[in-house]
Amino acid sequence: MTAFSAEIVKWIEEAERQAEAKFREIDSIVDRNQWKVIEAFQKHQVSDYHFAGSTGYAYNDRGREVLDLVYADVFGAEAALVRPHFASGTHTIATALFGVLRPGDGLLYITGRPYDTLHKVIGKPGDGTGSLQDFGIRYNEAALLEDGTIDWETVASKIDERTKVIGIQRSRGYDWRDSFTVAQIGEMVARVKELKPDCIVFVDNCYGEFTEEREPTQVGVDLIAGSLIKNPGGGLAETGGYICGRARLVELASYRLTAPGIGAEVGAMLGTTRGIYQGLFLAPTAVGQAVKGAVLAAAVFERAGFDSRPRWDAPRTDLIQAISFSGPEQLIAFVQGIQRAAAVDGHVVPEPWDMPGYEHPVIMAAGTFIQGGSLELSADAPIRAPYTAYMQGGLTYSHVKFGLLTALQTMKDRKLF
Ligand SMILES: *Cc1c(COP(=O)(O)O)cnc(C)c1O
Repeated sequence: MTAFSAEIVKWIEEAERQAEAKFREIDSIVDRNQWKVIEAFQKHQVSDYHFAGSTGYAYNDRGREVLDLVYADVFGAEAALVRPHFASGTHTIATALFGVLRPGDGLLYITGRPYDTLHKVIGKPGDGTGSLQDFGIRYNEAALLEDGTIDWETVASKIDERTKVIGIQRSRGYDWRDSFTVAQIGEMVARVKELKPDCIVFVDNCYGEFTEEREPTQVGVDLIAGSLIKNPGGGLAETGGYICGRARLVELASYRLTAPGIGAEVGAMLGTTRGIYQGLFLAPTAVGQAVKGAVLAAAVFERAGFDSRPRWDAPRTDLIQAISFSGPEQLIAFVQGIQRAAAVDGHVVPEPWDMPGYEHPVIMAAGTFIQGGSLELSADAPIRAPYTAYMQGGLTYSHVKFGLLTALQTMKDRKLF
């Protein structure tokens, strides 16, 4: 076994003891979500034949139809669209937005600049790419206030009669801000609906699923979207995304995914069905393992003298743990160190690269079974000040613990602290 410095091992052990009560809290969320998922499976009498998969048009694929019903129940929504045909989280979110917005309508993001990969989905008027703005959808955003809360004055001033969709990003993404809890999102919905009763509230739910006992669709949100290679895929779903919400809105999104008039009634599952069901079954537990790992990371790095967000004992509503470093060398050593604990590609040394959809070079540790799967232990960092690494995931808590050991050891070996 790799020799870890005694000092680093001691930090980890102390942090684990410190976090014990927090771990019990996480266990109780796992239990509630596990039973919620089982109850939804039972209500719809999920059986072996639902996993069979389908080919061609796949009319009447009962496994696919029941999967939508199970997801709708788990998320407390009227309807759901769960498909391997969504190529990524960005594609899923774009499908939801294009599904409900029409030329001349307004989209207003109230949680500041959205996640990097959405910038080109929003695009610019006349950019010729078929982006939202290229299609004549008007986009606006309200930056968050200094303290990370919603700037309601600006929001109120930017809502007009054509504002159709209010966008909320639950997770911090690549920003040094706090993520929004489901309770906070519920308060936002109430306020937004006072300002514009007929608007559609959309939540980018990426990384949030099963970190709390409720989902945004259970506090009045009209439409949510997320990726199956993040939380709800449980590490087993090989690809895909989901959209949940009000039935008419989900139907509109389905027309955008396939074609008007066809919607959710076709779409061969090509052998992905079992993994998506089983992944959903495992998701509450896998998310719990990852969240425990994130808590440990915060506690350990706080001990080592680094700034972390959220703090180890703060409430959690997503998987992401941001850790702040003093420069690119520490940042790169951390990410390369995380990779050293991977079962897959543990021999590979990640380097910064210009990743499609991102505006700065990004370095990523991703020793994963599913390419880019970020419910598995991974770490990303855009190479830009303030040199923050975002780590997330971990199908097993133990793997995260080793990732932290190898990361700290790599930094120590390079004399970076
Ligand atoms: C991951 C993520 C996305 C985009 O998902 P991809 O699968 O990377 O396209 C969008 N928003 C947030 C907050 C995310 O975390």
